[in-house]
Amino acid sequence: PQTGYIYLFMFISLLQPLLVPDRLMLGPGPSNVPPRILAAGGRQLIGHIHEEMFQIMDEIKVGIQYAFQTQNALTLAISGTGHCAMEAALLNTVEPGDAVLVAVNGIWGERAVDVSQRLGADIHQLVKPAGEYFTLKEIEEGLAQHMPSLLFITHGESSTGVVQPLDGLGDLCHRFNCLLLVDAVASLGGTPILMDQQGIDILYTGSQKVLNAPPGTAPISFSERKQLVKSVCVTSASCRSFLLFYFSPSCPFVFVQGLENSWKLHKENSIYLCEGLQRLGFTLFVKEPEARLPTVNAAWVPSGYDWKEITTFILNTHGIEISGGLGPSAGKVLRIGLMGYNSTKFNIDRVLHALQDALQHCHKSKM
Ligand code: PMP
Repeated sequence: PQTGYIYLFMFISLLQPLLVPDRLMLGPGPSNVPPRILAAGGRQLIGHIHEEMFQIMDEIKVGIQYAFQTQNALTLAISGTGHCAMEAALLNTVEPGDAVLVAVNGIWGERAVDVSQRLGADIHQLVKPAGEYFTLKEIEEGLAQHMPSLLFITHGESSTGVVQPLDGLGDLCHRFNCLLLVDAVASLGGTPILMDQQGIDILYTGSQKVLNAPPGTAPISFSERKQLVKSVCVTSASCRSFLLFYFSPSCPFVFVQGLENSWKLHKENSIYLCEGLQRLGFTLFVKEPEARLPTVNAAWVPSGYDWKEITTFILNTHGIEISGGLGPSAGKVLRIGLMGYNSTKFNIDRVLHALQDALQHCHKSKM
């Protein structure tokens, strides 16, 4: 019968060798996974109730506490993406009718509005143009006006390449009896964040960015402000046997280097890239140098060029992934990620060379 041939064809296609190209991943994530972590992922499984698993889980917790700079007991890794952590963070802190203030200066604030809306929150938005961050004064005005029980803010706005200053924000929120929830998916490990010192109540990140692990694991931590945090239900037992291999035995770049060295290196390399981009004639999207996110660097697409043609050329000719814009920056910018193990001068020289080549070979309209 005809269906038999279809299944035979499908079966034959499954026998083809897996083709996974070797690429330099300089988009806004996922980043490349270093050989040590790749090797850890190839190890045999153990069960989620085996004795060794508990030790590994404890080590994971200590690792996340270090990366987040927190003593919070409720610190764990969710088996899910950054979106999953965003949802877990909001779901566990927002109830229908709660007033939530969301700082929106790019797509991640917009996304948090969507999720909070579905949770039935009473949402208020504090909006800034793409490429800008929020001052304490602006946030204070928003808190005073809306009296929310939660403020959502993005530390590293990867759609625009902006880093949000966090000093003083926790104290400010707590004066208004408001929890501070920070998305650090694109920034954690690459630029300073001190959960306890900065008074952050809920913080999460993703594995596939500066931590250089495969996607699908999201470290998250909840502060001890239990009188405010509702009962937390974020973990799933099944995640345990799986995600831990990526962290514990292999140690991401951030732990090997130490946080301070990692922050310093990301900053120096971002400056080196930005200088190179400007030498090639690019204009940086974020005007204020101090507001530039060292892990995701955004530059305007030069006039007359099509961003898609540039990114496709660089991928096909140089084997390097860089990205176009997203949300408010879509069609306007190119984004170059320098995350963890990928943040090296050698990689920057490679991508600058590829961009120079692209500017010569891609079509430039005379308009
Ligand atoms: N927040 C920020 C700041 C991000 O950059 C991203 C991913 N680009 C996410 C959340 C969502 O993470 P994921 O893609 O792992 O769902």
